[in-house]
Amino acid sequence: MRRWRDFARQLRLPRDMPMTSAPIRIAVLHFAHETVSFLKNDTTVDDFVYPGSPASGEQLLKSSPKSYMGGFVKVAREYDGVELVGIESPLWPKTGTGSGWITREAWDRFVGKMIAELKAQGPFQGVYLCVHGAMAARGVLRPEAELARLVREVVGAEAFIAATFDLHGNEDEEFLKAADMAFTVKYFPHYDEYLQGERAARMLVRAIRGDYKPAHITVRIPIITATVLQWTGASPWMDLVQRALTWEAREPDVYVNFFFGFPFADVPDVGMTVQVMTNGKPELAARISRDMAQAIWRQREALLRTTNVHDIAEGVALAKQAIARGARPVVLADHSDRSGYATHLLREIVAQDLANTVIATLADAKATAAVKASGARAGDAFNMDVGGLVDDSAGEPVRIKGTILNVAEGHGQFWVVVSFGRNNVLILSTFLVQVREPFGLKELGLDIETFDAFAIKSRVHFRRGFDDNGFAKTILLVEPSEPFLGTTRLDKLPYENVDLSQFYPYGNPDFEP
Ligand SMILES: [Zn+2]
Repeated sequence: MRRWRDFARQLRLPRDMPMTSAPIRIAVLHFAHETVSFLKNDTTVDDFVYPGSPASGEQLLKSSPKSYMGGFVKVAREYDGVELVGIESPLWPKTGTGSGWITREAWDRFVGKMIAELKAQGPFQGVYLCVHGAMAARGVLRPEAELARLVREVVGAEAFIAATFDLHGNEDEEFLKAADMAFTVKYFPHYDEYLQGERAARMLVRAIRGDYKPAHITVRIPIITATVLQWTGASPWMDLVQRALTWEAREPDVYVNFFFGFPFADVPDVGMTVQVMTNGKPELAARISRDMAQAIWRQREALLRTTNVHDIAEGVALAKQAIARGARPVVLADHSDRSGYATHLLREIVAQDLANTVIATLADAKATAAVKASGARAGDAFNMDVGGLVDDSAGEPVRIKGTILNVAEGHGQFWVVVSFGRNNVLILSTFLVQVREPFGLKELGLDIETFDAFAIKSRVHFRRGFDDNGFAKTILLVEPSEPFLGTTRLDKLPYENVDLSQFYPYGNPDFEP
């Protein structure tokens, strides 16, 4: 950027004159995690290192073609003269969302490498940060803002930094102090990841060419909610999406982001946030952010009432009743299991003798490794204690006696499919799996039409393939009666960096948007 501007000055060209032929170099970085800081297993260097990760160059740019990265690369490459440089970056850890604090060693290792490469391969006129927003790293209070700050030190004040985020991010004013632009998904399930990547690319190129001057505002709204409540298929969450879309439609060059926040990361910038970006119009940004904040605050009570969560025993009993009256298949979603090892729902299914049910999945690294080592195959007997134990929230192991239907290696995990009871199937996996749609289970050899119930570990993402398409006739969200770490009862969590009394509904914060 600086070089082009110097050149432009020599030719007495206006500083901001768009110049389609001026080459643009954009560095692309990825560092994403949704950290459940209450889990005991830290997210380590080893969790980020596996075949394909870290990734650099074209490998990074092709790493998630249907998500943020894919949308960004697609649109950036529609412009002549734009060069994308994939900086060596870790992809999502093997543990997915089932791990705790990012260790300081992992942070230093991967961020250190990114910054060194950024220096070595520069200069850059733009940087794309593909992040999540709910990362929690030991000793780094605001990881995404810190990453942007470190990047800024390298690329200088004249370069532009744009990022894409998950709406579960925990972000305050610090991020846009260091970066220029942010684009968050608006839907939960996150249907618009690719779209937000596309927007980030277009706006980054426009900003670099002097055609967009980001003027933005960040407003924090003191509301904290469990993620299971944040489904945007129901009002008033749905209305917030609509309100943001309406602002974007009626005012050219306006982008409205909201973060619903991720309460299972014990970080100081937790909670709801609105960001508004405009093309050089700070008053307009302030007006829209006020409107969004007022709309959210007015509906704060209703935001908590959209989703009914049942106790597990009650949920299983309701599933039986639904099946009896033909309202099947039923989804029983234990939204609160954050390790993947929780056995509470499996235990209750056994106790109430629910039939024709798939339990997908129960994470158990030891049990799956033992089955793999034994060389067991389809048709062999299965008799093991499974799940539980990793912490209080996982409960006690459950003894399952049955027959192995299938064993498979794939997606970085070892899978064991066991039939037991009255036509029940338990799927064991190495790590936490959030089953978003039933059709993938066919890969493991299951005829999904034959089952009456699907017992899964998901909060909202399952609606993509069980609810929005009409597949399931009954949906029951459950959590154990004890307030374990994924609970909706956030006041039972051992926060150290968050004062819940500053947030609705746990306190009575003094907030006038
Ligand atoms: Zn999310």
